[in-house]
Amino acid sequence: MISNINYWDLDAVADSIIRGRKLTDDNLRELLSLTEEEDIQKLNYVARKVRDHFFGNRVFLYSFVYFSTHCKNNCAFCYYNRCNDIQRYRLDMDEIRSIARAVKNETIHMVDLTMGEDPYFHNEPEKFVDVVKAVKEETGLPIMISPGVMDDTTLTKLHENGANFLALYQETHDKDLYRKLRVGQSFDERNHARQFAKNIGYCVEDGILTGVGNDIESTIVSLRGMENGQPDMVRVMTFVPQEGTPLEEVDQESSLSELKIISVLRLMFPDKLIPASLDLEGIDGMVHRLNAGANVVTSIISADSSLEGVVNYDRELEERDRDSKSVIKRLRSMGMEPASQAEFNSIIEKRRTKPARIPVVA
Ligand code: SF4
Repeated sequence: MISNINYWDLDAVADSIIRGRKLTDDNLRELLSLTEEEDIQKLNYVARKVRDHFFGNRVFLYSFVYFSTHCKNNCAFCYYNRCNDIQRYRLDMDEIRSIARAVKNETIHMVDLTMGEDPYFHNEPEKFVDVVKAVKEETGLPIMISPGVMDDTTLTKLHENGANFLALYQETHDKDLYRKLRVGQSFDERNHARQFAKNIGYCVEDGILTGVGNDIESTIVSLRGMENGQPDMVRVMTFVPQEGTPLEEVDQESSLSELKIISVLRLMFPDKLIPASLDLEGIDGMVHRLNAGANVVTSIISADSSLEGVVNYDRELEERDRDSKSVIKRLRSMGMEPASQAEFNSIIEKRRTKPARIPVVA
């Protein structure tokens, strides 16, 4: 790559990535420094070309079930941190089963079971194993768990009982920034859980925040940190200041930086899953993220659901336009299609039968 995107042969750059070219730190610096919308659109074009080579026009859809908003932690960026005086809920088993039955009737490839680090489940992990078993039983679908950091024994039990994917975002691999964001939590334990899960046959997702004190060098540290863990799915999300949190007063950046990083992720992880979350800007935002190179739509919830998202751009809106039917309609208007369940299952199966062998942080 040369130092001005206007001199790139965009198709040739895409082809070189498809053939296995790796980005250097200088390449990353160059791409992350782009500020002009026109330049970022060129980068988005290259990323789409790479994605289309590996995935065609097929998109994966994940349903989001935030079943407990209780949490023992104090992350500075999070609305659900334990110090925030908000209304919280924890669904009981009947409610979880009934949501799972509703999910079964939608076009969804995987169910994402998310909670804060709720002591109710973390002190007695068997209760969480029961939730996974019940949702598996009701849906028969692959299950992603997003429970925070759990120990090796619990991760193993969850995997044996139907959990296929672990989502555990580091948020940043820059240790100084980590200390400010994930206040009082171990950097290494978080990495360890993801690596351990991967080695026993889970697919894993790592993710970072942008617009939260990360400059270009810090972002490169995070991108390389994610790369070292060899995740199956990589995410970036724009930081959105949340009421009642220590970072409430921070100015929110536009989504341009996120769109740029999504494209950079596609060039670094050409054949991996990269999500376009509905949680930040709904279906219009999903379109921009897919156009930047994403290939998964996450945070789908049924039209009448009152469950929480994580960022919840639509917390105040009466109608929540993020059900699978609305998503698919918009995908088709973009010339894209939901993938088949078999296509998604083959990704899960490949990892299950060929677990990774990466060094685990003690
Ligand atoms: S990010 Fe997760 S672990 Fe941190 S406070 Fe929020 S819910 Fe808890």
